[in-house]
Amino acid sequence: MKAVISKLSGMLKSGKISSSELAEKYIDAVKRDNAKYNAYVNETFDEARKSAKEADARLARGEGGPLCGMPYALKDNICTDGIETTCCSNILRGFRPYYSATVHEKLSACGAVLLGKTNMDEFAMGSTSETSCYGAPLNPRDSSRVTGGSSGGSAAAVAANLAPFALGSDTGGSIRQPACFCGVVGFKPTYGAVSRYGLIAYASSLDQIGPLASSVSDAAIVYDAIKGKDPKDMSSEEVSLSATSLSGDVKGLKIGMVKEYFDCLNPEMAARIEEVARLYEKAGAKIVSLGMPTLSRALPAYYIIACAEASSNLGRYDGIRYGVRCKNYSDADELMTRTRSEGFGKEVQKRIMLGTYVLSAGYYDAYYKKACAVRARVREEFDAVFGACDVLFAPVSPTSAFELGYAQRNVIETYQSDLYTVPVNIAGLPSISVPCGKDKKGLPIGMQIIGDRFADEKVLSAAYFLEQNEAFCEDDEEGGVAL
Ligand code: GLN
Repeated sequence: MKAVISKLSGMLKSGKISSSELAEKYIDAVKRDNAKYNAYVNETFDEARKSAKEADARLARGEGGPLCGMPYALKDNICTDGIETTCCSNILRGFRPYYSATVHEKLSACGAVLLGKTNMDEFAMGSTSETSCYGAPLNPRDSSRVTGGSSGGSAAAVAANLAPFALGSDTGGSIRQPACFCGVVGFKPTYGAVSRYGLIAYASSLDQIGPLASSVSDAAIVYDAIKGKDPKDMSSEEVSLSATSLSGDVKGLKIGMVKEYFDCLNPEMAARIEEVARLYEKAGAKIVSLGMPTLSRALPAYYIIACAEASSNLGRYDGIRYGVRCKNYSDADELMTRTRSEGFGKEVQKRIMLGTYVLSAGYYDAYYKKACAVRARVREEFDAVFGACDVLFAPVSPTSAFELGYAQRNVIETYQSDLYTVPVNIAGLPSISVPCGKDKKGLPIGMQIIGDRFADEKVLSAAYFLEQNEAFCEDDEEGGVAL
């Protein structure tokens, strides 16, 4: 893991490179390499040049924090004033919001430089980014494989050195799993720790914005810049963290290993996580074995809740207020039906229908209400677990990156592959996905470090220990900007 942001920020501060020069380097790299990976779906180079100039003026006055002059990318479900924001869906082609998401405002205020919007699964529904209306992004570690999803373009941009960092969103794993598949770091903060104002909603009780970066320290710097209470998002909360305070000291840290996370895990991955645990133990951490009997129920509960909320959130795309409208219609009903049938892809339509079904009068109790009860149980079990330990170690995904096309042929298996990531969203917890080696195929393996609600700093600090450990931090060079 490389601390790219601190390195570049040092160069910017010392005047070794200007923000404008740095932006041009990234712009050249995106122009050269994006066709290979399809990580960006919309480039904002003119805006980038303008912000870089402003950042240079600030740097010249000795102002600006670690992100001043730093290029970055945003997932295409994060609204950017005047810049097309499509959620990689045909229904939003040409949609230019009149406002920016708070995270974008905050990063701009820090002097960060937006390079463009990144590819993703349509409306963030998927685990491979293949449902994007722009075609799938490709995994820079092996271009015959998917990037994971739904923040696949953000993960690919960071892995291919086409951005020092990117933001993604995580409803059921969409930051952590692509980070894992592409061999980078992905951090999903506590629900409410980062404002979601301007994030196009998928499932509002689960959605969370967070950073994808090359290292834990980079992710912490970005998290520090975007976190905190926002009057425009009632679910947001004030949180304390100073990115500079990460100690990586794990002496006395109690690490929980929940049996149910490892029960059916493939031995290669289990062994790798065990190996990491031993490393922490050597440094003074204690390993505690724990159980969470309801954990396996989190997956079906997640798909019921997520689809239910999506069916309501996506009701607004009716061809009247946003984006694209179908051409021929005779009345309002036909206008809406045709616009939605033509504008939404198959996966999104499936989820809207499932969600409508589980909320309908005859099935509400049997599905939606039951899923909410399971959610409450999962939360209780996490509460009990965090009474006995500080952080949990867990896998991110049962496998490394799938081959392109595999998910379409194995739909249920792909849904099931979210089993390790969704419990965190169900309970609103912070969790980081960190690379911890490669499998036999040479593909990245990652692991999660999960914390209690608002223990984001503890999670980052625990992960920072791993970053300092050379054996687990082999870096890949994938082109892009040479650092
Ligand atoms: N793969 C999960 C889903 O399809 C998670 C998506 C996400 O976190 N946005 O719902």
